[in-house]
Amino acid sequence: MQKKILFLFFLSIWLQAKSNVIFDQYFGEGALRIDCIHAGTAEEEFYAIDELWQEPFWGGSKTSLIDTSNLGNTLFQVFEKQTHTLIFSRGLCTIFEEWRTTEEAHQGIRRSFSESFRMPWPKFPVQISVSSRNRKGQFQEIWNYEIDPSDPNIRKEIPYKNIKTVAYLNNGNPENKVDIVVLPEGYTKKEMKVFRKHVARLFQRFFRTEPFASHQKDFNVWMIEFPSPESGIDNPNKGIFRDTPFSSSFNALGIDRYVLTFDNKTVRKVASRVPYDYIVIFVNEKKYGGGGIFNLYAILTVAHERSETVFIHEFGHLFGGLGDEYYTSSVTYNEFYPLDVEPWEPNLTICTDREQLKWKTWVNPETPIPTPWEKETFDLHQQEYQKTLAQFESIHAPKSKIDSLNASHSQWIKAFFASQKFKDCVGAFEGAGYTSQGLYRPSLLCCMFSGNAEYDPVCRNAIERMILFHTK
Ligand SMILES: [Zn+2]
Repeated sequence: MQKKILFLFFLSIWLQAKSNVIFDQYFGEGALRIDCIHAGTAEEEFYAIDELWQEPFWGGSKTSLIDTSNLGNTLFQVFEKQTHTLIFSRGLCTIFEEWRTTEEAHQGIRRSFSESFRMPWPKFPVQISVSSRNRKGQFQEIWNYEIDPSDPNIRKEIPYKNIKTVAYLNNGNPENKVDIVVLPEGYTKKEMKVFRKHVARLFQRFFRTEPFASHQKDFNVWMIEFPSPESGIDNPNKGIFRDTPFSSSFNALGIDRYVLTFDNKTVRKVASRVPYDYIVIFVNEKKYGGGGIFNLYAILTVAHERSETVFIHEFGHLFGGLGDEYYTSSVTYNEFYPLDVEPWEPNLTICTDREQLKWKTWVNPETPIPTPWEKETFDLHQQEYQKTLAQFESIHAPKSKIDSLNASHSQWIKAFFASQKFKDCVGAFEGAGYTSQGLYRPSLLCCMFSGNAEYDPVCRNAIERMILFHTK
């Protein structure tokens, strides 16, 4: 009962936020896209304008205009210029914010990234404001810029007019649906039928997973058939480079399994052919890899059997703003989550006070906080596994040997988690967000921790709230 009351309370906050701005008063048809450059080091950052575009479609809500979720590292706000009324806002994450925690950024080397902000087409001049979180996790404005929609230099041509767009799932009016556009990366013209098969396989699994299964009617899914000159993508550690539409690559930010594209403008231009809220990029590669960034895109290799579970994980980043719960795999980030600041991610916390815990409504009074589990045993096993795997990879061991190591590791993990006392409870389990100590996750095993799991109740709820934001 308590859960239900709290849920209604949150719902009422979200609904209140909607009613403040009347869409037709401020916005017309289509979307405004602001392309910019985001650059700096670990210590400094700045934005510079690149181009403004009028896009034909706004796939987003016409009622949920103000984002009150407090998710994301960046806050994009739009004010009507004359009255300074807030008329639109969105939280999001950027690749720049991830990159600035790397060694390269800490050495003071400057790097720039192309980024875009999108909003419904404004009827009047607006002032946009972009804020980043400071070291304490509070938003601070770093850029503002005035835009007059009558500016003749706003580009209006339709890029890639002749590419084929196909509805995989069409549940109607995009304004109250979650609209996903799937872009193909590294599929040649001949391989477009393989792309369609991959989309079908991954989305069948997606819509069998909760909470998507119960909300299938709230989604539209578009495919854009944009062929690649060459098959596959870049794999720099193997000296492989291929000419593909979005120039995606393994080894992004120095992590071999991390796949990203930095070609934001091509991604945006191709996606603008359909009404979309979220961009998903399917990569035609057998090697395991992917990445997902809140409100930017999810990208993953899909020509292998683990891709269905990777998709669920990466979509959690893209859509729910969920953080990684694993902490034993190597990453190149330095102090990604400072341990004196509560992370904004709905599934990560530094808090071990039951009353202050952000997911306290899901915790039974009998569950201890922090919640005990045999972490040392798990850590030891994980270390051994990763050491053996690295050895196998360094001597180019046959695939069968690596497969059998992975299979026995999965079996051990399954048995280990099944043996834990609080395996089905929401609590606060130490070890999360690339950090072994001082950071906690809500459940022992969620798909944000390990591939072979479902969303736990806290992550599921975060996703359901987001579905509601887009659809109600
Ligand atoms: Zn992840």
